[in-house]
Amino acid sequence: MKKKVITIIGGGTGGYVAAIRAAQLGAEVNLIEKEKVGGTCLNWGCIPTKALVYSAKTYSDIQNARRFGIEVEDASVNMKRVIKNKDGIVKQLVGGVEFLLKKHKVNVIQGTADIVDKKTVSVDTKKGEEVLKTDYIIIATGSNVKKVPIKGIDTEGILTSKEALDLKDLPESLAIIGGGVIGMEFAFIYSAFGVDIKVVEYLDDILPGVDKEITNELRSIAKRERIKITTGAQVTEIKKDGNFSVKYIKKDEEDILDVEKVLIATGREPSFGGLSLDKLGIETEGNAIKVDDTLQTNLDNIYAVGDVTGKILLAHVASHQGIIAVENIMGQEKKVDYDVVPSAIFTKPEIATVGLTEEEAVEKDIDFTVGKFPFRANGKIKTMNKRKGFIKIIIDKNTHQILGSSIIGVHATDLIHELTLAIKNELKIEDVIETIHAHPTTSEVIHEAALDTIGGALHYVRIN
Ligand SMILES: Cc1cc2nc3c(=O)[nH]c(=O)nc-3n(C[C@H](O)[C@H](O)[C@H](O)COP(=O)(O)OP(=O)(O)OC[C@H]3O[C@@H](n4cnc5c(N)ncnc54)[C@H](O)[C@@H]3O)c2cc1C
Repeated sequence: MKKKVITIIGGGTGGYVAAIRAAQLGAEVNLIEKEKVGGTCLNWGCIPTKALVYSAKTYSDIQNARRFGIEVEDASVNMKRVIKNKDGIVKQLVGGVEFLLKKHKVNVIQGTADIVDKKTVSVDTKKGEEVLKTDYIIIATGSNVKKVPIKGIDTEGILTSKEALDLKDLPESLAIIGGGVIGMEFAFIYSAFGVDIKVVEYLDDILPGVDKEITNELRSIAKRERIKITTGAQVTEIKKDGNFSVKYIKKDEEDILDVEKVLIATGREPSFGGLSLDKLGIETEGNAIKVDDTLQTNLDNIYAVGDVTGKILLAHVASHQGIIAVENIMGQEKKVDYDVVPSAIFTKPEIATVGLTEEEAVEKDIDFTVGKFPFRANGKIKTMNKRKGFIKIIIDKNTHQILGSSIIGVHATDLIHELTLAIKNELKIEDVIETIHAHPTTSEVIHEAALDTIGGALHYVRIN
């Protein structure tokens, strides 16, 4: 039987995972990438930021080593090595993806693609134009930095997340415009390296969508780290005259920050990668490509996955969508479920969430109850001296079904998956309570918070 030909435009997390899955299921696969396979996540996003997070963590661990009986003198940050380490990790991972694509016999083409018609894709390569005939097309062109209309936003020297990953010399001060995930991750990274950080956020709180109690905890931790956060403030102008001056208005009062560098972290928006979508009649919704829950566009042989669909702009959503799209093309009937998507934020400490927040449970008029447990009451966490943070679990008061969890604290981004599995499988809190958790581990905070939902944790007494 003739193999199905699938052509994927964009080799980021959505595109390259779709390519591997398609090859596994027996398709003939073309993958077109104009820059580097791995896309934003591997080259300029998830992985390089986490390399910097780990360097920052190492530096603060060394500064706090004395408590553990380890004497270290004169620790300092060498940004050139920090960046070199980050580049090395990215190179290895990109090489790994290239190897996997080769092993799966994916035809990787370096160049910029456009869709000529439903069954034809053209690629502008260094050697000239290449034309591919195809049965299916998957658009995985990702997203770009969203720039908000601020006077002077294009002033030379203003950083986006891409340049902020390559600062070989530390500035004395940095203003971060935007207190979302990317902005707050950079705030904690550069603060740990000793940079004076000022975050300006337009909304009334940082990290939109995250449980209020968690953002309050992060804000008080940030204050102790001397990260200055101003919310409900609109930046109106950025000027450069030696240093940068950042003008903002809060409650009708104008203020100006004087800083050495400015980072724009006002979010990201879907990018169509220059594809002729209008010509083909591919429907869009707002600034994203419109897809159904099988990732099919309004054209039956054209699919879209990842940030370009504007659903949830996260790498693990992009790769999951890539798999679902390919499985549908290959005859399986699968749908994406966006209700149970964990999110991981690499501030210090980490934050992770899944399912409903307390605010959402109230909004939905659910009869719920909350179990909580502070990290400082966990034995293993005490040995690490990472006492900050807590976990919340939200359950339906009547059925005891687990509805959501928010965690702030060490290893939060790993811990969230036990609860993700529980919510996905509609488990009740008793299923977690009756599961033996190894001692001493950070996962015991989940067990304790679960116990707290229906009668009280064993190693903590609430005083309220
Ligand atoms: C600083 C930062 C940190 C982040 N951290 C995290 C994190 O910790 N966890 C997380 O889940 N997510 C994180 N993200 C988000 C994550 O990177 C994205 O959700 C993910 O990369 C989306 O994958 P994608 O395949 O849709 O798009 P991308 O990874 O952006 O890939 C799209 C690819 O398409 C290519 N392309 C575009 N147009 C064309 C064309 N016409 N022809 C050929 N190629 C084309 C591009 O060159 C690009 O490589 C972060 C993002 C940033 C910016």
